[in-house]
Amino acid sequence: MKCPVCIKENLTSRVYGGLGQMTSAYYPPFWDEDGKHHEHDANRRTSHYVCSLNHQWQEVTSGSCWCGWTGGKKKVIIKPDMEGEVWMIDGLYLLA
Ligand SMILES: [Zn+2]
Ligand SMILES: [Zn+2]
Repeated sequence: MKCPVCIKENLTSRVYGGLGQMTSAYYPPFWDEDGKHHEHDANRRTSHYVCSLNHQWQEVTSGSCWCGWTGGKKKVIIKPDMEGEVWMIDGLYLLA
């Protein structure tokens, strides 16, 4: 994992963190009409990261399944209270 701000600005840094929270609803697995097993775990895990240049962001992920189901996109939010642009890297939405 690299800091998304540092990637954008062409800087190098170390990333610390992974402090996280996770929702804990229960989403039981199921078998579809073809008898195939699915696990659609929509719990969202929020992890907080900071880089050595003090950029901060959060990453929100949830489960995914072989069928292509994902509980939601990864979202990365840059935390310093700068107003402004929304940008995207590799399918991640970034608020800077
Ligand atoms: Zn950074
Ligand atoms: Zn599935």
